[in-house]
Amino acid sequence: MIGALLARLSQGYRTLKYPEETPPLSGRYRGLPLLDGTRCPAECAVCTGLCPVGAITRREDKTRLDLGTCLFCGQCAAACPEHSLTFSQEHRMAVRQRDDLVFDGAGPFPHATALEPGLRRFLGRSLRLREVSAGGCNACEADTNVLSTISYDLARFGIQFVASPRHADGLLVTGPVTRNMESALMKTYEAVPEPKVVIAVGACAISGGMFSGHDEVGRGVGELLPVDLFVPGCPPHPLTILDGLLRLIGRVR
Ligand code: SF4
Repeated sequence: MIGALLARLSQGYRTLKYPEETPPLSGRYRGLPLLDGTRCPAECAVCTGLCPVGAITRREDKTRLDLGTCLFCGQCAAACPEHSLTFSQEHRMAVRQRDDLVFDGAGPFPHATALEPGLRRFLGRSLRLREVSAGGCNACEADTNVLSTISYDLARFGIQFVASPRHADGLLVTGPVTRNMESALMKTYEAVPEPKVVIAVGACAISGGMFSGHDEVGRGVGELLPVDLFVPGCPPHPLTILDGLLRLIGRVR
């Protein structure tokens, strides 16, 4: 017992001070892309030809990147001869509208805003979520699970994952929604009492991911359900998910 207490004392307080302080991220982390399409020569198509998921498009001399499809593999940035595209360490990328994830680098990034005041009042100081893994690879699930560990301690913000959809205020969905998972997702959604929120986490849940459009894979949760928060990434960093959740409940603006 004494040994356990001493160990606890020597370890100190382990929970991150987020959102007041952001911990240093790995140098290899790829966050919000910085895109300067004005540097792209008219005929250049290096990045569009390389991107495995068609996340970059060039139309009317404008380069656009869809963060809801992007896998953050970094191939485009590495190959860009004009260095028009780089990846920053900015982890805050969650948005409320799907279209906000398609950007050309001009203007400020449209960070997620809070839920409507009436719904926030209804939820009070808590948000209970049922996680649905709708055919993903488990990477997004792993980075979501991490939020309940001592480092992130999601419960200190009043946010918790619950086992039953009947006890939940909404769904957090990962994976592209494979045909096999479609009815399970819909049944779980129907079991959540109104009013409810839906959160799509990761490129698969937002747009269908690598196999989007395949007969057995949908094009993301938005095809089936109204989505209140989109958290991009493949997988998103736990801090990206946490930041999105905190913005949704109005704890971060
Ligand atoms: S980082 Fe995103 S946009 Fe760039 S090549 Fe990879 S998937 Fe495509």
